[in-house]
Amino acid sequence: MTRPEDERHTQAEGGRPLSQEGDAHQRPEAPRQSETRRKKDAHSEAEGRAEGNVSERDPSLRLFDLHCHLDFAENARELAAGLAQRGIGALSVTVTPAGYVRAAALFAPCANVRTALGLHPWWVADGRCTEDDVAQFEQLAKDARFVGEVGLDFAPAHAASRDVQLAAFERVAHACAEGGGKVLSLHAVRSADAVMDVLERTGCAESCACVLHWFSGTSDELQRAIKLGFLFSVNPRMPATKRGRAYVRAIPADRLLLETDLPPESAARYDAADVETPLRATLAELAALRAEDPEALEARIALTSERVLQA
Ligand SMILES: [Zn+2]
Repeated sequence: MTRPEDERHTQAEGGRPLSQEGDAHQRPEAPRQSETRRKKDAHSEAEGRAEGNVSERDPSLRLFDLHCHLDFAENARELAAGLAQRGIGALSVTVTPAGYVRAAALFAPCANVRTALGLHPWWVADGRCTEDDVAQFEQLAKDARFVGEVGLDFAPAHAASRDVQLAAFERVAHACAEGGGKVLSLHAVRSADAVMDVLERTGCAESCACVLHWFSGTSDELQRAIKLGFLFSVNPRMPATKRGRAYVRAIPADRLLLETDLPPESAARYDAADVETPLRATLAELAALRAEDPEALEARIALTSERVLQA
């Protein structure tokens, strides 16, 4: 299997007109809770969910992609509408703060899409994101509920920029920990311990709901992340490896989420069916590997997803 880092985004970000609109999904400030309570809300079991949030649920959404890049598609808005027709909700992550501003405006009319503020480690590693972008991230983070794709990548291709990545990610984590109550979609390639060190040191691990996207760390790192209360978004490539299969069996049921990491950055037109197919395939594989009823698993993952997207 090709290593994850070789398969992910490989081309420069496509240009789109800038919009100055912020995240249209921003909801009115929730009553102040303790940071621990806020985090627990995103993780807690169905029974524990406050009644007050039930009305926010969209009953037409049954399947959720918790880490995708819808803005990479030329027909991004149409793709989002196609997903809604199929009952699919999405957390669409971005790779730069400017990309987030554009995507948040683009998906503002799409009730099934949440847009996350990103500062992808590859963009930090190769200098496409600079000090100015980190500063813009810090500004935007004040009002963003969803953050991603952020993290660290210490695979050989990016390891030379380790210190630069760490400095940027420290600032990302500090900015998120400041207000707390955010959801983070995390990239951690050969760096899961380093990512968790930063998140713990800054208080982010405690105050925010942390989702490890496409976890590929060691089993010790998996256990640490589970103890920290992290969630895991699983894509089809995880159960394709022996280690990945062991991991998806070991992840507690209420921490499991689905993702596609699609479309690829080079995507021109992209069809909603090409998102639904891998989501359904992953769901079926998880049910088989965990010896669970597929419908029950789908319902539980949907519940966890709704909770995360409402966090
Ligand atoms: Zn991604």
